[in-house]
Amino acid sequence: MTAIPPRRTPLHLGLTGGIGSGKSTVGQMLQHCGAALVDADACSRAVTSAGGSAIAAIRQAFGDEFIDPSGALDRGRMREKAFGDAQAKARLERIVHPLVADGIAQATLAATQAGHRLIVLDIPLLVESPRWAPVLDAVVVVDCSEATQIARVQARSGLDAAAAQAIIAAQASRAQRRSAADIVLFNDGISLAELRTHAGRIATRFGL
Ligand code: ATP
Repeated sequence: MTAIPPRRTPLHLGLTGGIGSGKSTVGQMLQHCGAALVDADACSRAVTSAGGSAIAAIRQAFGDEFIDPSGALDRGRMREKAFGDAQAKARLERIVHPLVADGIAQATLAATQAGHRLIVLDIPLLVESPRWAPVLDAVVVVDCSEATQIARVQARSGLDAAAAQAIIAAQASRAQRRSAADIVLFNDGISLAELRTHAGRIATRFGL
């Protein structure tokens, strides 16, 4: 009889979704259920904050004018440059992405050593990058309509609809994301309480 291989412990659950889909909210709900949460955006902010591991290379590649007086990446200035300059965007990503991946690996190791059974990795660019699929046991995609994404982004940041639409257009499409999903959580027209119920079911399904 073929032995069933032991399930990997802890399980690594990827969590992604477009801007404003609600993935951070779902991540916090899963954390509340007992999962460890590793947040790629937080890792990205850490490496580009004052004293962060990406700052010296960014300064060298782009110049002092992209570092603000506190010593952090000037995000507004870099966003403007990267938006209209694909080469600059790629150069920035070559610096930042491996360092973010290191940060994620360290946080994942710490969660493993702390004895967590489920590690949720909240990775906005999970579908865009081939790096993640091999290290994940399953992928949850939080999905909603573009109209809902735009309404949430506008409510949160005051961006106009056109700016929110441009960000959505630059990300993977809903169809691309859904095709990478083991579980799709449709977060549209449901309350936060209902979303919490769905997150709880996912936590249960993954052993919490
Ligand atoms: P980003 O990619 O921009 O970080 P996100 O996908 O992580 O966005 P969240 O920050 O989780 O999205 O959610 C965006 C906003 O929408 C938050 O203010 C959140 O409280 C709200 N929200 C998410 N889902 C619901 C829901 N079902 N009902 C009401 N508000 C919601």
